[in-house]
Amino acid sequence: MKAIRRFSVRTVLPSRIEGLGVLASNLRWSWHPPTRDLFESISPRKWVDAGEDPVKLLSRLSADELAALAADDEFVSSVVAANEDLHHYLTDERWYQSWSREQEAAGKAAPAAIAYFSPEFGITAVLPQYSGGLGILAGDHLKTASDLGVPIVGVGLFYKTGYFKQSLNRDGWQVETYPVLDPDELPLSLLREEDGTPAVVTIDLPAGRVLNAHVWKAQVGRVPLLLLDSDVPGNDEQTRKVTESLYGGGGDTRLEQELLLGIGGVRALRLWSRLSGAPTPEVYHTNEGHAGFLGVERIAELVRDHGLSFDEALEAVRAATVFTTHTPVPAGIDRFDAAKINLFFGGANAIEGVPVERLLALGAEDYEGGQPGIFNMAVMGLRLAQRANGVSQLHGVVSRGMFDGLWPGFDDVEVPITSITNGVHAPTWVDRAVYDVARKHLGTADIAGTDAWARIDGVPADAVWSTKREMREKLVTDARRRVRSSWQKRGATDAELGWVDDVLDPDVLTIGFARRVPTYKRLTLMLRDPARLKALLLHPQRPIQLVIAGKSHPADETGKRLIQEMVRFADDPEVRHRIVFLPNYDIAMAQHLYPGCDVWLNNPLRPFEACGTSGMKAALNGGLNLSILDGWWDEWFDGRNGWAIPTADGVEDAERRDDIEAAALYDLIENDVAAKFYDRDAAGLPQGWIAMMTHTLKTLGPKVLASRMVQDYTRQLYSPAANAGRAVIASDFAGAKDLAAYKAKIRASWPKVKVEHVEPSGLSDSPQIGDVLDLRAYVALDGLTPDDVDVQLVHGHVNDVDELWGMEVAPLRLVESYDDGRHQFAGSQPLRRTGSFGYSVRVVPKHPSLASAAELGLARNA
Ligand SMILES: *Cc1c(COP(=O)(O)O)cnc(C)c1O
Repeated sequence: MKAIRRFSVRTVLPSRIEGLGVLASNLRWSWHPPTRDLFESISPRKWVDAGEDPVKLLSRLSADELAALAADDEFVSSVVAANEDLHHYLTDERWYQSWSREQEAAGKAAPAAIAYFSPEFGITAVLPQYSGGLGILAGDHLKTASDLGVPIVGVGLFYKTGYFKQSLNRDGWQVETYPVLDPDELPLSLLREEDGTPAVVTIDLPAGRVLNAHVWKAQVGRVPLLLLDSDVPGNDEQTRKVTESLYGGGGDTRLEQELLLGIGGVRALRLWSRLSGAPTPEVYHTNEGHAGFLGVERIAELVRDHGLSFDEALEAVRAATVFTTHTPVPAGIDRFDAAKINLFFGGANAIEGVPVERLLALGAEDYEGGQPGIFNMAVMGLRLAQRANGVSQLHGVVSRGMFDGLWPGFDDVEVPITSITNGVHAPTWVDRAVYDVARKHLGTADIAGTDAWARIDGVPADAVWSTKREMREKLVTDARRRVRSSWQKRGATDAELGWVDDVLDPDVLTIGFARRVPTYKRLTLMLRDPARLKALLLHPQRPIQLVIAGKSHPADETGKRLIQEMVRFADDPEVRHRIVFLPNYDIAMAQHLYPGCDVWLNNPLRPFEACGTSGMKAALNGGLNLSILDGWWDEWFDGRNGWAIPTADGVEDAERRDDIEAAALYDLIENDVAAKFYDRDAAGLPQGWIAMMTHTLKTLGPKVLASRMVQDYTRQLYSPAANAGRAVIASDFAGAKDLAAYKAKIRASWPKVKVEHVEPSGLSDSPQIGDVLDLRAYVALDGLTPDDVDVQLVHGHVNDVDELWGMEVAPLRLVESYDDGRHQFAGSQPLRRTGSFGYSVRVVPKHPSLASAAELGLARNA
């Protein structure tokens, strides 16, 4: 029978073990083994049955069981000790506290709070609010910020059915189910007003509708994460569904989700500060464009509360905003019809202080190659943020090329999008067995302390190898359980499943491949030549085995076909003991998968993998990467930490390109990877392989950590943004007003700014190194003062069509001003490089509040 209504009765814990409730409600348990052990010790069986979820576990204990625990002195003292440990974790000084003291002492800003907006957060399997890498990264960012003491507050949405659960039908076709999450059964608490009523965020929608939301708070160590939930009383049926599922829903749902995330998110932050006394964020970081409307809400606030004009408010908002772009795949970027934006933000729905034309202009693709009538969330994100980055060096290059239309007049290298390479949260992703070996042989489990990496050679080869085998064996056990359960769902009886006990072998070279299934990730590249793959799987002396997983977006039929193709291959009785497809890739599966694999395979279509993080997680568990040189691997592959699959860059025919790259992959596996794995010494150890494992840990370990990433963000983006933010709001927003006025003046004059004449001297017909080029440049500034601009000599090598490359920029100095608004600038440049040399002179805006000379996209070249 179906219940007509459901609610949860919260457990009341006896006072002696009340501390369990505190431990369960702080998600630090998810990356803190001693706390997990404590919960497991209550009942190992119930712990597993509850999906290793402390809140669920506690809710399933009877009053008698709780009373027995409360009477057990030893247990009670472990609870007390665990709470003391948590208290220290939450209150002790950490990296940020000492760093910020140094900063402030040096007169630089260390932000009091940083808001981090993301449409998804992957923190633990227990809170399935993520679909893939973007969410996992956001989760790792928060956990690491907590470990480092960085004062971040997360903002997202609470999706009632999360993403979806994946299973397979008999034919190997992906089936999606959407189990409903009851927030009362999750480690969440509701933000309440002082009188106990739930706090509400309200947003106006077209046609007089309103969107109300409650705000749940998850506590991620020291970091609060605010999640907005539209399934609340007072909303109509349709509005209640806005946050039903991640990337789901048709019609206007996506836009409504983004309104709630951006605008509602800022309102939730204000609520949070009012109710908890938390400091107002000084920096706003948006993880991809989905949360871009947060800037619009902040402009509206400044116009309303401080009487700024739109342009002044825009400068104040931009200064304190950081935008991270995550994808070079156009389909990964949200674009809406401008008409729809007009409907939501125009007419009766117009936000005071934010004219809809100004909003439309922020997201307009009004550059070469752009599409009229489209509102692009990434473009708005870039225009609302003074600082932006991609997520690996290669992705930085690709992003600068992709968005260069926003900064006309500048070469791609000067486009103000930097890069910070992603990292992963070791305590979440490194297997306990690895920590145990480190503790035993290096005397520390603090693998984030960089000197431990350098000493990794000190771990005996047999210890490295036996640890890997132990983890491989755990994966094999987990995979067999998953294969059995999957076949049961596919309609097989136990009698037909005897073979599952022989699936995979803990001594065979294990290659993992798990990720979402958009086309560019090429799940089925390995199936290009099925006979060749079969031969590798069934090789009599050097077999490989493959563990594969991944979800396709529910609306992506192509992705589902690829999964089916893979499943059908893996169903073949001839190979099914050597290749498995495990349904429902999620954090829980991933935590077994990375440690258990010897090799992590990644074969995206270059350069569409912005960074990729699964290979980093594999590396931290002693896995070797076998990957296309894309994303992070392009940056850190060194020839000894894994293998690079050669790419057929430039081959236009996609089929041929796949053929070439697949053939290269088979060759590598057969001749290099398997050969090395099975090359054993007298003791049965693959010394060459083990050397690659330790080299991987030693060289990649310190780089792939999220602690490196979050420190990079703090130093390179958050702190400068906080400095800039403080500068523009000081003295009643004098800086914002000045910068807005400056930009208006520059834009008005720019059409008449001109480099009229350049006079070189000092060089002979055949110049040589050490000679000096002297230049005079005469420029017209149309009423701008020489202080408003930089006049620059830009020099470098030239290619055969006279394009400069390897450019360097040298400022010219003002020599003389004339009555008619013309000025003479001059400078000297010694020739330091042989080969082709070319130069030009240009005028660019100059103002102390600009983060880059390219910021306005205005340059006047000679
Ligand atoms: C790490 C991770 C991802 C992202 O991996 P990529 O290499 O970026 O594709 C996706 N899903 C889960 C469950 C993960 O743990």
